[in-house]
Amino acid sequence: MSVDMKIVNETMENLKKRQFRPFYVEKKEDVLPLLKTMVKEGETVANGGSVTLGQCGVMDWLKNGGFNYLAPTSDMTDAEKKNITRQRFFADSFFLSSNAITTDGRIWNEDGASTRVAPLIYGPDKVFIVAGINKIVKTQAEAVKRIKWVAPQNCARIGFATPCVEDGQCHNCMHFQRSCCTSVTLSYSRIPDRITVILVGEELGV
Ligand code: SF4
Repeated sequence: MSVDMKIVNETMENLKKRQFRPFYVEKKEDVLPLLKTMVKEGETVANGGSVTLGQCGVMDWLKNGGFNYLAPTSDMTDAEKKNITRQRFFADSFFLSSNAITTDGRIWNEDGASTRVAPLIYGPDKVFIVAGINKIVKTQAEAVKRIKWVAPQNCARIGFATPCVEDGQCHNCMHFQRSCCTSVTLSYSRIPDRITVILVGEELGV
């Protein structure tokens, strides 16, 4: 995927106007060195589910980098999982990706259980969004279209039985495993630079 720096720069300028803190790196291997300048060992950290974070090595770093890593595990009881998920609101740093970023600087995320978007909106002192340039789109309509293109793939990846898994099309389902339950569009951060956006000059995630 070729990188149109004019579009990247326009997006970064508009992210700044909305009090987000954008960075651009050329490749996924550049993400961790940048994050290491902004996140200190010993911090309490957590993340939302993200293919991109795995591709950039962020997941391994969070688990093994000397942090207090808050994540539910399969050996926990339901009560323990609920408790640790709630604790993530108090994390120093929270990591996730985004479904789409419009060139006007808005950030789009759709969620199922909302455990990803809730700490994005409020709680952790620092939020880090890592996104490949394939997530940049020009219009709101393209962002919504992208979200509905991604959701069936995510449902299939997780093993859900929503109707979109069959044909890749959204049926606006009322299935109990629906992954599109909460739509969050970040238009501005009242806290300057709380949300860092690292754009990577590669195609990452879905
Ligand atoms: S609303 Fe249902 S069918 Fe549509 S993309 Fe989301 S999970 Fe799939």
